[in-house]
Amino acid sequence: MKSHAKVVVIGGGVVGASVLYHLTKAGWKDVLLIERAELTSGSTWHAAGGMHTVNGDPNVAKLQQYTIELYKEIEAVSGQSCGVHITGGLMLAGTRERLDWLKMVKARGRYLGMDLEIISVDEAAKLFPLLEKKHFTGAMYDPIEGHVDPYGVTHAYAKSAQIGGADIVRHTRVIDLKPRTDGTWDVITDHGNVRAEHVVNAAGLWAREVGRMVGIELPVLAMEHQYLITGDMPELVGKPEQLHAIDFEGEIYIRQERGGMLMGTYERAGVPWSEVTTPWDFGQDLLPNDLERIAPSLEVGFAHFPALERAGIRKVVNGPFTFAPDGNPLIGPIKGLRNFWVACGVMAGFSQGGGVGLALSRWMVDGDPGADVWGMDVARYGDWTTLAYTNAKVRENYSRRFRIRFPNEELPAARPLRTTPIYERLAAEHAVFGDYCALEHALWFAPTEAEAVDQVSFRRSNAHPHIARECTTVRDHVGLLEISNYGKFEVQGPAAAEWLSKIMANRIPSVGRIALSPMLNDGGKLIGDFTLCRIAADHFFLVGTYAAETYYLRWFERHLPLTGVTVRPCAMQYAGLSVAGPKSRALLQRLVREDLSTGSFPFMSFKRMEVGMIPAYVGRVSFTGELGYEMWVTTEYQRALYDLLRRAGLEHGLRSFGGRALNAMRIEKNFGTWAQEYRPIYGPFEAGLGRFVDFKKGDFIGRAAAAEEKDSGGALRLVAFKVDAADADAIGDEPIWHEGKVVGWVTSGTFGHRVGASLALGYVPGSVAAAESGFEIEIIGERHRATRLAAPAYDSSGALMRG
Ligand SMILES: Cc1cc2nc3c(=O)[nH]c(=O)nc-3n(C[C@H](O)[C@H](O)[C@H](O)COP(=O)(O)OP(=O)(O)OC[C@H]3O[C@@H](n4cnc5c(N)ncnc54)[C@H](O)[C@@H]3O)c2cc1C
Repeated sequence: MKSHAKVVVIGGGVVGASVLYHLTKAGWKDVLLIERAELTSGSTWHAAGGMHTVNGDPNVAKLQQYTIELYKEIEAVSGQSCGVHITGGLMLAGTRERLDWLKMVKARGRYLGMDLEIISVDEAAKLFPLLEKKHFTGAMYDPIEGHVDPYGVTHAYAKSAQIGGADIVRHTRVIDLKPRTDGTWDVITDHGNVRAEHVVNAAGLWAREVGRMVGIELPVLAMEHQYLITGDMPELVGKPEQLHAIDFEGEIYIRQERGGMLMGTYERAGVPWSEVTTPWDFGQDLLPNDLERIAPSLEVGFAHFPALERAGIRKVVNGPFTFAPDGNPLIGPIKGLRNFWVACGVMAGFSQGGGVGLALSRWMVDGDPGADVWGMDVARYGDWTTLAYTNAKVRENYSRRFRIRFPNEELPAARPLRTTPIYERLAAEHAVFGDYCALEHALWFAPTEAEAVDQVSFRRSNAHPHIARECTTVRDHVGLLEISNYGKFEVQGPAAAEWLSKIMANRIPSVGRIALSPMLNDGGKLIGDFTLCRIAADHFFLVGTYAAETYYLRWFERHLPLTGVTVRPCAMQYAGLSVAGPKSRALLQRLVREDLSTGSFPFMSFKRMEVGMIPAYVGRVSFTGELGYEMWVTTEYQRALYDLLRRAGLEHGLRSFGGRALNAMRIEKNFGTWAQEYRPIYGPFEAGLGRFVDFKKGDFIGRAAAAEEKDSGGALRLVAFKVDAADADAIGDEPIWHEGKVVGWVTSGTFGHRVGASLALGYVPGSVAAAESGFEIEIIGERHRATRLAAPAYDSSGALMRG
């Protein structure tokens, strides 16, 4: 084994092999893969090899498309067959909701360039004669589905990588990793050591163990997974290969395997494997079968596909593979570690392995993944993902793999875990809670405890009238909102202002003022949006998205000078409350000594005040677009502040409002938010944030690219629409049509209760953004006329929030 390498990839499963190949393709030849046993010795060897393009996150779906298209390439480079069978696939619906869901998937597929088709049960039965029609209501057909040979794929990647210059060492286990002060790593193995500039953890079933070598606990857990292969079936003799099918009601997938059928299930009573540590002596082993556990799924499967039962079970495979809490991969660099990368938690290696390898290799070589990989970024998790939390969420995710998640559905596992001091107070107001980064927050408030439950639906739900009342209270009186679930950072030091000016695109506010600022990457794309509040010359309070805290910190860390600035995440040290609405000033004025009139404390002011007896930072700003104030207090004061505001609010008609009402109100104002309107595939001018990019100040990251975007206008434009919707509003990811063609996609949608209209925000090409008419938005399979709004639907001049 060589003693030095630019990169050591740990793990020779399908993911490690793909990373290795993509690194060589990107031009890094001095790369070494170290494998404990033979290639494929983790989950990979016994996988069913199924692949598909559909994924809940359109950006992940694109990488899945890429993976499937890649097989031809690696076969050609390596001469190794991947055993690709493109059979086409059916997703079978047994309920109206599932058919609605499929229509939404098909609609999303339109702007991803996928050729999906909704078909009747009769048509489905022609394509897949094994199904019993009476159990189904319709289906979706995807021509690009099929299966591959896991061994062949892994070896095709590995051989292609070797042809590109990579080395592969087998039967060598990495037993420890030691960082050096120069940022390189000593990779310690049972057959000698290697010094590497970069290390990639692609250790699959052992990713947690490799993570622990560098002091991190990765949120991954393996689950046992079973599939069975039937005896040979006369129904298949002389026929073309059967399609892949997913039967959501049975929670099973099914495909042909030689003369029989393969049927696997994501059963509800899923069982984790090796909950704390994965044994190093586990090799190409299988786990004991437990058909009883999957009996309920088998029963449905046999009823839905009776020929399978007649054929009998020839073989059962039970093997473990890993999941992150949300079922998407974990990729990227790790905050706090230099040149340490992960590519693990990949539960669908044969759909996702290529995309993971591509994105990670670009990230390593170019400093940027080259695609929007937020949905797979390891930084979407923070320190709340304890071993037991991950265990609960992974089990939940596994058991729900084939179940619908409705847009208003909150999942129950691992809750409540994190709560703020006013949690019980909000519960007493009949709050319906959601969890965000494992933190409970109020979504909406019901009139009684019995009504405090979301009836899940793709259409307007039982919460609709209650959210309406919250919004109109804010519009006409004053509302109280908990805002503790925002991300917060304190930035301090003599060089703080200079550093922020470099990292943020907008000008840095003067003391006592607030500025909104996008944060751009080197390519001028949006990687954050912040509220910058200046407490003192050398002291700032930043508010951003909590879910992106680790993502932001990783970026800050990369750009922090050695001295002069400190950045401290403080999301959980500061709890927040906000009052918004025309009476918010009168309410707050009675509680503070400062003059709150616009003359003395105008829009975008920020000051430390005593609210009653409570020390608070008060900002004159509100995401509702109303006159409003945000108050930040250290958590021990939050309950007292809440009680004080509620008492003082009595005479002003104050009511609590929740996150759903806030979402509706920010959309009425065209205020975008991270992961929806703002993502690393959009530039600030495309996103309508151009006025927050200050070219007059000195240099800042992304400046040149932003200037270019300003000149060219960018390719896309964020546009607001009023939609002639019936009983369902857009929620995100719906296609936007113009003159009969799909031209863009929705990023957020809602019913705007203050304006009494269904609204949507979305991106379309700049060339059609100014069109006066001809737009439609497809909601649950139906196209609805959409009118482009030239200005925000609510308070278009901004007079209310400034007043
Ligand atoms: C029963 C079953 C059915 C499945 N069906 C499908 C399917 O139909 N479609 C699909 O896409 N996916 C399927 N999967 C999932 C698929 O197997 C995984 O997505 C994929 O194998 C993950 O690959 P990996 O490279 O991340 O991990 P692994 O395959 O676990 O590879 C990790 C490798 O790292 C090596 N390693 C670990 N630690 C070290 C160390 N310290 N030093 C050196 N080497 C080390 C291991 O020996 C192993 O070879 C299935 C899985 C199972 C179990």
